[in-house]
Amino acid sequence: MIHNMPVKTLIHKDLSIEGYSRAAVQTYWRLPEFKVGFDLGGQPWSFMGTPTWFVSHGHLDHVAALPVYVARRRMMKMEPPTIYLPAAAVEPVQAILKWFTRLDRGRMPVNLVPIEPGSEIELSRELVVTASATRHTVPSLGFVVWERRRKLKAEYSQLTGPQIRDLRLGGTDVTEERRVPRFAYLGDSSPEGLDNCPAMYEAQVLVMEITFVAPSHRKDKIHKFGHIHLDDVIQRRPRFQNELIIASHFSTRYSRKRVAELVRRAVPDMFDDRLHLWL
Ligand SMILES: [Zn+2]
Ligand SMILES: [Zn+2]
Repeated sequence: MIHNMPVKTLIHKDLSIEGYSRAAVQTYWRLPEFKVGFDLGGQPWSFMGTPTWFVSHGHLDHVAALPVYVARRRMMKMEPPTIYLPAAAVEPVQAILKWFTRLDRGRMPVNLVPIEPGSEIELSRELVVTASATRHTVPSLGFVVWERRRKLKAEYSQLTGPQIRDLRLGGTDVTEERRVPRFAYLGDSSPEGLDNCPAMYEAQVLVMEITFVAPSHRKDKIHKFGHIHLDDVIQRRPRFQNELIIASHFSTRYSRKRVAELVRRAVPDMFDDRLHLWL
């Protein structure tokens, strides 16, 4: 395997989370078991086999590798990928691909799908992705991956097996869909992106940005530019029900060591060890 870009991996239950993220540098994440990825700020060679991607917004550190990814899949004779992105980003991306085709004389086969807050995309029979509004300096989206399970409706829970079978044979749908938020990806956003989407706080795994961690950095300015400060997270502590919270997208103003120092000083218990720094 060619290692062209940094990739960190963390395994949580049956899910591997792979990726890398630094503000203004590059951001890319993928869930190999779910066959889906988020953001294309870079494209590690090993990520190419993932056929479906969601782009949170059009900033270069989240989208710059889109043409590289599309061209690489064509070169390797893989199926054209499907990339979901904020509706406002589709036309510029199409134009960029057109110009790259002219420059490179290679085709750019891809299925670009515009989405907006409230969009719902079926990944498979078991998995659904929903998009939610986030708040940044350009149109932006957050995403939740839900696992769908069929459960017996509560009203039938007292019945015996044969009774349920008879109802079923009579044409009654005895089950209902239950959705479990397995994974959430905030993308770049001010705290509103979390507050407006309760599933972000409930997902088993949340990948979020905490771009700023130093006490001296002014929060009003940070929010204006659509980002989150560590203090915002601490203020909202009771809301985070997640089993694992991955903090990422730290500003390049901080070294890895400095991020770890500042966060551990402010949150000594690391949210009962649920808070993980992606450094
Ligand atoms: Zn960013
Ligand atoms: Zn951004």
